[in-house]
Amino acid sequence: MADNKIHVTNLKKSFGKLEVLKDISMDITEGEVVVLLGPSGSGKSTFLRCLNQLETATAGQILIDGYDVTDKHTDINKVRQNIGMVFQHFNLFNHLNVMDNMTLAPVHLKVMTKDEARKKAMELLTRVGLADKAEAFPSQLSGGQKQRVAIARALAMKPDIMLFDEPTSALDPEMVGEVLAVMKELAKEGMTMVVVTHEIGFAREVADRVVFMEGGYIVEQGTPEEVLAHPKEPRTIDFLSKVL
Ligand code: ADP
Ligand code: MG
Repeated sequence: MADNKIHVTNLKKSFGKLEVLKDISMDITEGEVVVLLGPSGSGKSTFLRCLNQLETATAGQILIDGYDVTDKHTDINKVRQNIGMVFQHFNLFNHLNVMDNMTLAPVHLKVMTKDEARKKAMELLTRVGLADKAEAFPSQLSGGQKQRVAIARALAMKPDIMLFDEPTSALDPEMVGEVLAVMKELAKEGMTMVVVTHEIGFAREVADRVVFMEGGYIVEQGTPEEVLAHPKEPRTIDFLSKVL
């Protein structure tokens, strides 16, 4: 338990009367890549957002590196700095160029000096194949490039957990591969990752574990082989028949 990177016990989340997460327990070890699957509205985004406290849990406990993020006394900003998040719609600051997008948080939060942050940013942009775009503005980039910048920006804070919420869903099909390639590279380097995606090929190839969620519960989970090739639950089978 203590060596789990993420330890979620009986998590519940409601919005008013709407119960979205009904009872979720999940342990994620360091370096593990978990792919979350499930129909729209099943609570996948809400689950990710509870992990870094963009949403407050209604009940249950979430430990990140042993820190209870559901405890009001925990310095959530400290924990959050170690968790990078990438969204479907990039969420870049459109009035800032790529370099400024990348250095804003680390400099503002005093994690790095401006020089250090710029150096780290160039290193990361090189890694995602965009070293020549440091001075470009988001409007000058393709969707795939924007998402690679968003990933690099999240990595600039040196997180040790990365959360991805449908990172390729808003992309033209020809750009999906370049973003998945960056994510695959991260996974290989040992990053702990929770990825919501409908890219079954990515799940099959990269995930250590696939979790199928529906209606606020985990319906089925296991290795990609177990869940994707030999699903047991009718709801999993039905879902896969629609996305495969
Ligand atoms: P998924 O990511 O699996 O599609 P979500 O976690 O986004 O599902 O949403 C699950 C349910 O919670 C949906 O019915 C959605 O409308 C509702 N929901 C999500 N966020 C809010 C919110 N901030 N306020 C009210 N309802 C919400
Ligand atoms: Mg969602």
